[in-house]
Amino acid sequence: MTTQRIRDFLATRRPDGPCLVVDLDVVRDNFHAFRHSMPDSAIYYAVKANPAPEVLRLLASLGSNFDCASVAEIEMALEAGATAARISFGNTIKKERDIARAHALGINLFAVDSHEEVEKISRAAPGARVFCRVLTDGEGAEWPLSRKFGCVPQMAVDVLVYAHQLGLESYGVSFHVGSQMTKVDAWDSALADAKRVFVSLAKQGIHLQMVNMGGGFPTKYLRDIPSAEAYGKAIFASLRAHFGNQIPHTIIEPGRGMVGNAGVIKAEVVLISKKSDNDAARWVFLDIGKFGGLAETMDEAIRYPIRTERDSDEMEPCVIAGPTCDSADVLYEKNLYPLPVTLTIGDEVLIEGTGAYTTTYSAVAFNGFDPLKAYII
Ligand SMILES: *Cc1c(COP(=O)(O)O)cnc(C)c1O
Repeated sequence: MTTQRIRDFLATRRPDGPCLVVDLDVVRDNFHAFRHSMPDSAIYYAVKANPAPEVLRLLASLGSNFDCASVAEIEMALEAGATAARISFGNTIKKERDIARAHALGINLFAVDSHEEVEKISRAAPGARVFCRVLTDGEGAEWPLSRKFGCVPQMAVDVLVYAHQLGLESYGVSFHVGSQMTKVDAWDSALADAKRVFVSLAKQGIHLQMVNMGGGFPTKYLRDIPSAEAYGKAIFASLRAHFGNQIPHTIIEPGRGMVGNAGVIKAEVVLISKKSDNDAARWVFLDIGKFGGLAETMDEAIRYPIRTERDSDEMEPCVIAGPTCDSADVLYEKNLYPLPVTLTIGDEVLIEGTGAYTTTYSAVAFNGFDPLKAYII
């Protein structure tokens, strides 16, 4: 969504080169929507989605907690004003010395999905709280996160028992239904799994207290998405169904849903050409591509809204590609993208919904192109 503030910024500042502009008012609105729709869940913003200091400071001031994947992200969250008690080290793949550094910084909440990781934490952060991530099928997500993270629920039981034996506090279960999850009921089967883990552990005298329901909340790209409220209602109904009147503490970790629609990338058309005289589709080359921050166009997974000043003209399907000398740097080709027939070299385009997962994905200097600049307003 290109807000009036972003329009005004671009019109007055006229930044050269591709850049991301993030409107903090939208981030604030998103935070309040999550708070209001899921009032009983603690919000842990997934820092990786957009770690700009201004974004972190705003969220810290609004009372957000932070889900961090590295010591550097933990330091950024602390720098932004969060206390260590408001930070979780949510990556299931950590070096033991990073666990020790996090522990020294006061972090006391760690994700695991294996016996091996539990051993590291028991040595480097003795007595810390751990939650075990369970696998989900990622079904319905446009950017699935399945397979790499989590273990099957039965193994989660063993992992949490082991953590308890090693003197850690077995605290809960986590999962992530997959990013850009457009089905509101996608949390249900994972919550059923979480409940089974709770029951198995209770039988062994270990009483878990928390379910970390991860991220997955979508941002609007081309298609409409359900409201935060619809997600909140569906998730609460599932919590009730599975946990009855003993609903544990819950955490949500929105990343994309917190910042995605707050950002717009301004880019420029560098070249429009054809590969042969009878080529059906024109190739439109922008000054940003997969290596400039639009990595989530991989396999054409995320399809961003692209606006031009000629959108009222006739449209024709085009290939869209980036400016680098790598043939993988094509954004949309299998599914051609409609752009105005009058689009011209030098035109500005606005790529909406780019507040999440862009700046941090942009290469440092591939082909000499600068990393994506960001203006947080
Ligand atoms: C990336 C990530 C998130 C954020 O996911 P979104 O789909 O962007 O909301 C949340 N939790 C964990 C553990 C993650 O890795």
